[in-house]
Order: sequence, then C-alpha cells, then structure tokens
Amino acid sequence: MEVLKFGGSSVGSSKRIHQVVDILDRYSKHGKVVCVVSAVGGITDKLLKAGQLALEKNESFAAEFDDIKKIHLSLVSELIPKDNDYILEYLEEELSYLKNLLDGIYLINELTPKTSDKLTSFGELMSSFIITEVAKQRGIDAVRKNSQELIVTNSSFTKAEVNYLITNKNIKDYFRTAHQLTVLPGFVAKSNLGEITTLGRGGSDFTASILAAALKVKRLEIWTDVSGMYTANPKLVKQATPIEVLSYQEAMELSHFGAKVLFPPTVQPALDSEIPILIKNTLKPEDKGTLIKTHSTSTSGSVSGITSVDNIALLTLQGNGMVGIPGFSKRLFEVLALEKINVIFITQASSEHSICFGISESDADLAVTSVNQCFEYEISTHRIRPVDVEKNLSIVALVGDRMKNHQGISGKMFSALGKNNVNVRAIAQGASEKNISAVILQNDVKKALNALHETFFEVKTKQLNVFITGVGNVGHRLISQIEQQRKFLKNELRINLRVMGISNSKNMYFDEEGIDLGNWKDHLERGETSSLDGFLEKATQLNKRNSIFVDITASEAVSQMYADYLKRSISVVACNKIACSSEFQNYKTLKNLSKKYNASFLFETNVGAGLPIIDTLGNLVASGDKVTSIQAVLSGSLNFVFNNFNGSTKFHDVVKEAQKEGFTEPDPRIDLSGVDVARKILILARESGYDMNLEDIENDSFLTKANLESDTVDDFFETLIEDEAHFQKLFSSAEANNSQLKYVAEFNDGKAKVGLKEIPQGHPFYNLEGKDNIVMFYSHRYPEQPIIVKGAGAGADVTASGLFADIIRVSNK
Ligand code: ADP
Ligand code: ASP
Ligand code: MG
Repeated sequence: MEVLKFGGSSVGSSKRIHQVVDILDRYSKHGKVVCVVSAVGGITDKLLKAGQLALEKNESFAAEFDDIKKIHLSLVSELIPKDNDYILEYLEEELSYLKNLLDGIYLINELTPKTSDKLTSFGELMSSFIITEVAKQRGIDAVRKNSQELIVTNSSFTKAEVNYLITNKNIKDYFRTAHQLTVLPGFVAKSNLGEITTLGRGGSDFTASILAAALKVKRLEIWTDVSGMYTANPKLVKQATPIEVLSYQEAMELSHFGAKVLFPPTVQPALDSEIPILIKNTLKPEDKGTLIKTHSTSTSGSVSGITSVDNIALLTLQGNGMVGIPGFSKRLFEVLALEKINVIFITQASSEHSICFGISESDADLAVTSVNQCFEYEISTHRIRPVDVEKNLSIVALVGDRMKNHQGISGKMFSALGKNNVNVRAIAQGASEKNISAVILQNDVKKALNALHETFFEVKTKQLNVFITGVGNVGHRLISQIEQQRKFLKNELRINLRVMGISNSKNMYFDEEGIDLGNWKDHLERGETSSLDGFLEKATQLNKRNSIFVDITASEAVSQMYADYLKRSISVVACNKIACSSEFQNYKTLKNLSKKYNASFLFETNVGAGLPIIDTLGNLVASGDKVTSIQAVLSGSLNFVFNNFNGSTKFHDVVKEAQKEGFTEPDPRIDLSGVDVARKILILARESGYDMNLEDIENDSFLTKANLESDTVDDFFETLIEDEAHFQKLFSSAEANNSQLKYVAEFNDGKAKVGLKEIPQGHPFYNLEGKDNIVMFYSHRYPEQPIIVKGAGAGADVTASGLFADIIRVSNK
C-alpha cells in the first residue's frame, strides 16, 4: 500500500488535477493507493477571509464566497464536462451549507475557533470529492473516504491533537478491505464529541503522515509544486537546489523555520514509526525529490539548508531587577504559555541583564499586555522596564546535523550578513547546534538568504565572455572545440565559457546569453553588417566581466584595434602576428596597456601554433632566468618543402604542392623569403626582454635575385623553374656533407638571424619531420642542455587549441 499526499499547489487547476490523476493511475496499477488531498490552492485562505469579512459585518464576504463557488464549479465543468449533474448537486449542497454558515457569522457577529474549523473544512471536502470523481471517470476503482470518520482528536480547535489509539484502530479497520484508490480530505478531523476539527494550517501533510504510520507503509510521499526540500526557498533564492537526503531532525528544523513544503508535525508520526518521507514534484514526477529518513547519509557540506520565517516580533525585557533572581524566566514563559503564545526564539546574555524572545507578530500585543501585567510590581518599582517590542522582523536560520562538527560556521554566517549590510538584531544557537538563527529586518530577508546561500552552497563559477573576429579554418575549429569542451570546463574547471559575439568581414552577431554554437553560421549569416568599431562598441556596451577579444585574422586593421579593447579592460587573444612583430613601440604600448587595465594580452599561437613556446619563455623570464640564446626551426611550410625536396624531385613542384595543400600562405614568397620566420624570432627575442625591430634581424635568403624580384606569384613560380639548378646545388652540397637542409632562426646575445642551414647528423634538428617545429632555449639556468619544445607547429586544429589555451589562461589570471 502506498500513501501519497497532494498539496493545494498540486490541485490548483484542472491541468494539475489531471497530472495528479495520471500519477494515481500509474501507482494504482501496482497496488492499493491511499491519497490525501489538500483544498484547491488558495481556498483555505479564501474561506478564512470570507469568515473574517462576515465577522466584521463586511458584505463583501458574499463576493469571496461567490469566488470560491466559481472556482469549484468551473473546475468540475473543465474536468468532467458531461453527465456531471450529481457532482454539481453535491457541490451546490456543500456550498449552500457554507453560505449559511457565513451568513450566520455575519448575523451573530461571532467567529469562534470551532466555527472557523467548520468553515475551513469545506475546502478539503470539496477537493477530495472532485478528484475522486475524476479518477472514477478515468476508470480507476476509486472511492472517497471522509477522514473525519477516521481521525479523532481533542477539541483544541484550529490545531487539534490526535487520539492515536482510536485513530489508528479506525484506520486499520477501514483499510482492511480497500478499493484500489482511496481519496481522503486532508486537514479535517472530528473530536470525540463529534465536532469538526482541523489539524492546523498545512495539516494535510499531517493527515497523510497519520495514515502512513497507522498503515505501516514503507514510505510516505508528499507531492507538491517543487522538486523536494531545497537548500533555501526556491521562490526567493534562484540558485537553490533540491537536497537529496535529510534527517528527520533537519527536516523538522527546516520546516519549523518556514520551509513550508512540509508541515512540522508531519514528521512526528513518520519519525515514531521510522517511515521515510519522499517529497516529489507533481509537475516533474521524474525528478528525484528529497528523501527524509532517520539519518541523513549525505556527506556534503555541513549546512543542509537555509530557511526563514517572516512576521516575527522581538520582545525584550530588561532591568537590574532581573540579575541573579531565579525563577524570573520561569514566570515569563509561564505567562506566555498560559496565553498559548508560541516562543520561537530566545536569547539571554550571560549578564542576565536582559532577556529577548521572538514570537509571531500576531501574538505581540497580547504578549506585551500579559508580560507587563505579570511583572507589574517589578515595573512599578523600576526594577525592570516595560517590555520593548520591535516588529517587521524575520528569522533566518542555518540548519544541519553536521554543523556541530565544524568550526567557524557562525563566523562565516555573520560575516556574509555583515558584508551585505544586513543588520542582525539578535542571535540564537541551540546547544544541539543543528540550527543557528539570526533575527533581521523583514526587508533584508531575500538579500540575506541569497548571501548565505552563496556562502554555503554555491561553488563560484567564473564566467568568460568571448568575442571572436575571423571565422576561417582556425575560427571554425576553435568554435567547435569550445562547443565540445563547454561542459567539461563548467564541471571540472568551474569556467562558464560563452561566445557572445562572432564576426567576419561581412557580418557580426551577438547574443548576451551566449551564442548557440550548434547554429552559429546561420546566426552570423543573418547578423548585422560588421565593422571593427561596431564590434568593439557592442563588446563594450555588453559590459561583462572577463570579456576576451579573439583575433583569428591576419589583418593589420584588426590588430590596430587591440589598444582600444585593452583600454576597456577587454583581454586580447590573437594568432595574428602583426601587432607583436610591428614597431617595437607599438608592441610595448600594448604590453603596458595590458598591465594598466588588468586585461591579458596573449598570443601563444604567434609562434609554433599550439606549442607552449611563449608560455615556456614567459615562465623562464618570470622566474628570474635570462635567455641567452634561442635556436629554432619555426616554419612548418619550409620544413615541408625541404623534407620533400631531394635529388629526384624538383624544387618548383614541391613548393607548388605545399601551396596546394595549404601549408604555405597563398603567396608562398612570404614563407620562402623568411619574413614569417623573422617575425617569429623577433617575437621570441622581445618576449625574452630584448628591444628589437624586424630590420635588426639578419635575413640571409636562400632565394635567387630573380625569385625575390618577381612581380607576381606566377612569375615567382616561373623563376623557380628557371633557377632549379640553384636549388639542386643547395641540396647536393648538404647531401655531400651528410646534412639536412633546415630553415633556422637564431638568437644570440641580442642578435638574431634567419636562414637556410645544413644540419649535420646528430643535431636535434636533423630528424625534424613533416610540419614539426622545434625551439631550444639556452639561459643562465640552462647553459648547456637547453629547454626544448618540439611538436606539430602548424595546422588549424593545433592553432585553434593554442587559442583555446590562451582563453583559459585569461581565467587563471
Ligand atoms: P503544498 O500546497 O503542496 O502543500 P506548499 O505551498 O505548502 O505546497 O509548500 C511548497 C512551497 O514551499 C514551495 O512552493 C516553496 O515556495 C516553499 N518553500 C519554502 N522553503 C522551501 C524550501 N526550503 N524548499 C522547497 N520549498 C520551499
Ligand atoms: N488546506 C490547508 C491549508 O491551506 C491544509 C493544507 O493544505 O495542508 O493550510
Ligand atoms: Mg503545504
């Protein structure tokens, strides 16, 4: 047998009632089901309001009644549109009792707790009837049983106490022969004198718990409109998450302090019989929910949840007359108990000069009068002052069984509140240390809950906002790498990487929430016309922390925008080499702007694509080492050319093939002339701390005068054919010396040069294959055995991954 309870939020509309019946249908196929339902959402409040209006002789009670009537009748016409006469008849009859009752209250000007219970009982009686009929219509073997015939209480109206002896027997007897589905109204009961009673606000949970305990079921399920008990009220704290497992104690503390998913006494019958309670979401039945049981086995954080309760009044009694006099608090709490005032919170400083207690605001006036009366003599003799009362307060509390084993929790709590300007009026921590509470202004509750939630539950995720210009081959790869890694970055590195802007030479597109990377091409195609300034403006205007501009072009104009980005504290990541190999002054200015505006300027891919060359160099310099010499092969294209050129191939053909395969720039002269390599060694020299310009680099070209002076690419290829003999000579000389031709960049003591070299066997460059790059750094710490970085130094994928690494480096700063 299963016991399920559906709260008012689950039966608030015809759609939701259908969802409830879906769940009941599913459960009743596997066994007998006991279903407790609340009144339709908001109805109990409306009934009480109508009663209050009638009591105040305010005729608008009739309008409130009409509203209640309309809500129920239209639910029936939506849920069971046909053949519903008998249902409407039943409801009309109940509603006319209700109307008579309200008229009576109006007439005699009286609303006792006893009448109030009669009044509120209508909500659950009507909702349980409607739901039963819907279940029957859906073919379920269903019956409604009025819980007033089972649950027997004393006559403490509005919060009656259960006589378990009789109640349990009634329940066991009744359910000996049960229908497949029994629907019962929650909240309502009857006294042993036959008067209608209720179990207190939120009491349907209690009804369900009583049934579950009496029937000794394996588990009690409470179905509501949230996916369990959350780390904080999800309506106030957006970041709150459901707690998987809680102990009864923790659940009790949380629900006592306002987490109204669960009505506090609910836990008691379940706790006594050790029946676990599962909180589930009617709207999302597939969600796991929260399991409440004897011991929470959860080992995560020491704080399980944060909760709050509003409408608190803080009363303070103070005076010298209190000091050292035993029995003072006894008198105080006795008088409060006598008036049935529930004390939620007590603090007394060890000086005993004052005692401070929190109660519900609605009890405040009564408390003040009765306490002042009780201490009339002491007040008149000025030994104590009349009670001080402060209203519009709330309590926020941290709850957790494991808090007692952890130091510093209250320190953290109060420093979080302090930092957010939340003024704490009073503090209490029970000796059990399952709860630390603070009284604050009601106005501050939302802020306080969010600040505490951030402190105790949220792992800080760093947001990186990327703006990409240039979406050619490398750009494509970068975007797909980002798309692929996003989850990993989020889960493992706590980095939330969003691409917020993309542009090419035609269009640009932005999305503040992060561009859908599965669809970026379509978005870009339909984007606005791009401009370099427009892109900068938009990135500036979005004004996000950790913005990064990524340049994947080879455009000089784009490189001239870096300064503007850096000045707006937007980091720059570039594979474009132009800026770093331009005039020294420009390079230096960018470096300084990066420092001044605390924005990274990273260009690892300028040398050796994704290889960590500049990073290695940077680490050497940062740790105080001095680079004295650099030997390197830095051109994947020239490597390809000289690895494939031999006695049996023609130089022209090899260059042509390299061009065709995309290993050279479209104009292969940029590679073959050595300019590209010269730029790279220049950047390495600068990063080593040397003030150099491109003109300072000796470029000993292996090309002929005719090659260098050719006007067009085609002419250039012509001259390669004409000068084949020249290239063959270079090859045969190397061969004769047992050497390989490699295009080498060198830096020694402030001087740099690039050029073709014969590399003898045994040299680290000799066996360099394919498009590989190699760099050897000699330094004060590495004078003989250099640091060597070697690996694929060209290609869209490795370049994209180098850019990606730079983007991540920004987040580490
Ligand atoms: P029902 O009508 O199902 O009895 P309630 O409105 O009584 O539902 O309780 C569910 C509501 O409790 C949620 O919608 C939520 O606003 C509120 N609530 C307060 N604190 C918490 C919390 N810590 N976790 C989950 N819900 C909470
Ligand atoms: N309908 C009652 C209330 O609103 C009982 C309940 O919903 O649990 O308090
Ligand atoms: Mg409830």
